[in-house]
Amino acid sequence: MKSFANMDMVFAGPCSAESREQVMETASQLSDIGITKFRAGAWKPRTSPGSYEGAGDQALEWIAEAGRTYGLKTAVEVATPAHAEAALKAGIDCLWIGARTVTDPFATQQLADALKGCGHTILLKNPITPDINLWCGALDRLTNAGLADIILIHRGFYTYQDSIYRNSPIWSIPMEMKRRHPELRLLCDPSHIAGRAALVEDLVDKAVALNFDGLFVEAHCRPEEARSDAAQQITPARLGEILRRISRRGPVAATAEMAVFREEIDKIDTSLIALLAQRMEVSRKIGGIKKASSIPVFVSDRYDKLLEACRKEAAGAGLDPDFAEEVFRLIHEKSVEEQL
Ligand code: PEP
Ligand code: MN
Repeated sequence: MKSFANMDMVFAGPCSAESREQVMETASQLSDIGITKFRAGAWKPRTSPGSYEGAGDQALEWIAEAGRTYGLKTAVEVATPAHAEAALKAGIDCLWIGARTVTDPFATQQLADALKGCGHTILLKNPITPDINLWCGALDRLTNAGLADIILIHRGFYTYQDSIYRNSPIWSIPMEMKRRHPELRLLCDPSHIAGRAALVEDLVDKAVALNFDGLFVEAHCRPEEARSDAAQQITPARLGEILRRISRRGPVAATAEMAVFREEIDKIDTSLIALLAQRMEVSRKIGGIKKASSIPVFVSDRYDKLLEACRKEAAGAGLDPDFAEEVFRLIHEKSVEEQL
C-alpha cells in the first residue's frame, strides 16, 4: 500500500486563483507542509453565467510567480486552444484538462492539436459521465498528438442516483483505466468527488487503499471566502494533517497488520471448505433416502423456505441478504446435482 509519502504526486491549491494575495498565501502555506505541485484555476467552467468565472490571464501571472517564489511546479486548467497558448506563454509547467472538456471530443481534439509537441505534463480528468471509452478516447487524442507525459485524474462521475457525494466515485472505472494503462500515474481528486470538505479525508484513505499514485486536491488559505467550490476546499493545515496521518501509517505497519488478518481469513476459508464438504455429505445421505423412497430430488417449497431462512439469518448477522441468497442458490444447485 502506498501512502503518498512521495509528495511529488500531490497537487494541491485553490479551485480558483482569485487574487495575487490569495494565491501567494495559499502557495506559501502549501509549501510549508511539503507540497511541490501547485494547482489553481484561471478560467472556471461554471454551470451558470454570472458565477465567478476566474481571473483569466491575470491569474497566470500570480500562479507563475507563486511557483517561482516557493519552488512549486504549477498546473492550470486549459479548455480552449487560447487558454493553452496563454498558459504555455506564462510558463505554467503542467496543464490539466477538466471533466467537462474531456466529455466533448471536439474540444479535446482541439486542445490536443494546440498542445502538440509542447512536452508538458498533461493531467487528464475523467469525463463527467461514467463512460470509460470516452476517457480512453481523450487519452488516445493526446497520445496521437505526441504528448507522452500524461497523468490521469479520477474526480468522480455524474449519475442520476442520490449520493452523499457531489460526483460518485465509481472506483471500478479508474481501476480498469489503471489496468489498461499501467504505465500511467493515476491521481484521485477527492475534492470534486466529495463536494464537502468533511468527506475529503475518508476519500483520501480510500485512494490510499486502492493504491492511487497521488492526489489532486483543492486547498485554500480561507476556504469559507472561496469564490468557487467553497464547500469542498480545505486549508493547507488540514491537508497537512491528513497527509501526515497517512504517511505515518506507512506501508510496513500496514503490511504487518494485513498479514495478521490474512492469516485469519485463510483459517476461516479452510473451515468454510470443511463445512461445505460436510454439508454435501449430509445432502448425499438425504439423496439416498429420496432415491430409496421415490421422493423427488427437487422440492420447490423446501428450496424457497431455505433461501428465505438464509436471507433472514444473513440480515441478522449483518451480511447482505442478496449475497447470502446467491451463495446458497449455488450450494443448493450443487446439492441437487449430487442427489440425482
Ligand atoms: C477543478 O479541478 O477545479 C475542476 C473544475 O475540476 P473538474 O473538471 O473535475 O470539475
Ligand atoms: Mn473546483
